[in-house]
Parts: sequence; structure tokens; C-alpha cells
Amino acid sequence: MYSFRSKKNQVQLSFPYRDVQIKRGADPKEQYELQEELGRGKFGIVYRCIEKTNGLSLAAKFITCPKKEDRRNVEREVEIMRALQHPRLIQLYDAYENGKTMCVILELIEGGELFERVIDDDFILTEKSCTVFMRQICEGVDFMHKQRILHLDMKPENILCLTQTGNRIKIIDFGLARKFDPDKKLQVLFGTPEFVAPEVVNYDAIGYGTDMWSVGVICYVLLSGLSPFMGATDPQTMANVTIAKYDFDDESFNEISELAKDFIRKLLLKDIAERMTAEECLNHEWLKRKKANLHRTPSMDVTKDNLKLFVERWNEHPNSPYVFDKSSQSIIPDQNDSSTSP
Ligand code: ADP
Repeated sequence: MYSFRSKKNQVQLSFPYRDVQIKRGADPKEQYELQEELGRGKFGIVYRCIEKTNGLSLAAKFITCPKKEDRRNVEREVEIMRALQHPRLIQLYDAYENGKTMCVILELIEGGELFERVIDDDFILTEKSCTVFMRQICEGVDFMHKQRILHLDMKPENILCLTQTGNRIKIIDFGLARKFDPDKKLQVLFGTPEFVAPEVVNYDAIGYGTDMWSVGVICYVLLSGLSPFMGATDPQTMANVTIAKYDFDDESFNEISELAKDFIRKLLLKDIAERMTAEECLNHEWLKRKKANLHRTPSMDVTKDNLKLFVERWNEHPNSPYVFDKSSQSIIPDQNDSSTSP
């Protein structure tokens, strides 16, 4: 396996930068040996694979593209990933178009989903460990936003651990990501109800703050195991989102610092313009590296029990992206991607 070291001598990217162009009319199986399935998403199935020429272990995501539009979506994902070379973001290795199937070869991430990791009995979940994860998430988002890219599907299942024991994470799945021009109004009609920002539900202009809202929700869930806006039904959840209604009343927040709550409060703001940017998050006292007051934070047992239920519920009813139907004020599962950018 290559290791590519930065000046700071930290292992950074799994392989040096590659200028990936989609190979048309070629079968990835000629160059890569497929192994077991690693996971399934809304669009693709991901397998472990090995590059035949050098034995490098990678991940191959296959997406069936019956329509031209499906193919364009994968082309956009590839184009966006080409611009995102950063250790906190999944790296692109190769891409294929083979008839109606497209395949993207990705850096292999072996540690599983972050939330599965933190509920493991061997993992001691503390507020301090949450800051370690949230800092890395904000670093990844900060880089992405500086490349003028919005992720638009930030949620726990899209945060993976690099290894089974280490604390490094990576953000995955740029399937819904968009290039963003701050001078042009961008609206989207998709999102995952529990993590989606008010402006998406209201079909208002979105922006960098749209991802930051989701970062705030992820942080709330990580610290408490509870979903801040969840209602009995998806429409109720979204009604709670539109009025930004949540609280810290649950006992799981008893031991959580005021700094952590301040961090969340500055993200879960109804007004997109008021939310902290990723860079501001990194400069927030809670995420600063040297926090004497967080050196010995208690293990969060109530949160861990809640998180186990959260993961169980999520696994039973995967909360996949929805299309918001404006005309009927209802939501339907996402069949086709829909975004508009005038
Ligand atoms: P989709 O775009 O279809 O939603 P994802 O990119 O989210 O698909 O991938 C689906 C699942 O496959 C993920 O939730 C994860 O468990 C697994 N997975 C995706 N990419 C990788 C990777 N590079 N290494 C290991 N597992 C991965």
C-alpha cells in the first residue's frame, strides 16, 4: 500500500493525486479483482477490490444507470471528487462507464461507520472524543467549502472510520454534492429529513450553511444519541426543522459542557447566514485542540445507550434521501435527483 506523507510527516492520502478521467466502454473487472460486498447505498453497491497490477486494495462502487440522467449524476460525482483531494474526504482512484453500469474506484476505508464504532463496547465515548471527531468533520467540510462544493447529504452513515481502532474519519458519498456559486441562487428538493436544513424544506436558497446545519445535527446526535428534530412522522420532523425547534432538556445533556451546547446553538440556527462556517467551527473554543477543561470528561453512558437505539432504528429504517414535493407539501422517496440552478 502506498503511503503518501505530507510535510508534517502524517500519513495523508492513501495514494498520490490521480487525474481521473472516466474510461468509456471499458470493464473495470479487467483491471480490478472484485471481492466481498462492503455496503449498499441508495444508488450503488460497494465491493472491496484489488488492483491486479500492484495488489492495491480499493473499493469499487457500481451504479446502474438506466437513464442518461443517472449517468450524468455519476459524472458530476466524479467531477466533484476530482476537486476534493483532502485526507478527511474519500479519495477517487479510477472511474468507468461500461454500458449501463458506471463504476467508481475509491480509496478503501476499513473502519466502518463512525456511529457503529462509538457504540462498540470497547469504545469509551466521552465529550473529548466527540470533539476529536467533530474537528475532523469540520476540517473536511471546510476544505470542501473552500473548493466551493456543498455536500448536501451530511449524516452519520456518510462518516466512516479509517481503521477499526484509530480515531481518524473520512467523509464519503458525494452523490448529492453540488458546485456552488455564491452569486447564484441554488435550491434543491432533496435531503434526509432528520438532517436537512430549514431552507431545503422551504425550498429557499441554500449555501455553505446548509451543510453546517447538518454538522450541528450530527454533533447533537453524537453527544446525546438523540435526534433533535425527529417527530412521529417525516412531515412532523420537517415541521420541527422549519421552526428550528429543539432543546437540551434530556438527561443525556446533564454532563455536557456549556461550550458544546454553544457550539450546537451556533449551528442549529434557522437563519442560514447566522450559522458558523466550518472555519469558525474550527476556531470555536470547544474544538480548540488544547482544552484543559475537557481533559477528563466522564464516559457518556446514557448517550451510548441512546446511540445504540439510534443506530438500531437507522439500520431498520434507513432514512434515505427524499424528494420534497412542494405542491402537496409532502415528501416522497427520492426516485430521481432534482436540483435547480438557474
Ligand atoms: P450511495 O451513493 O449509493 O448512497 P455510498 O457511497 O453511501 O453509496 O456507499 C454505500 C455504503 O458502502 C456506505 O454506507 C459504506 O458502508 C460503504 N462504502 C462506501 N464507500 C466505501 C469505501 N470507500 N470503503 C469502504 N466502504 C465504503
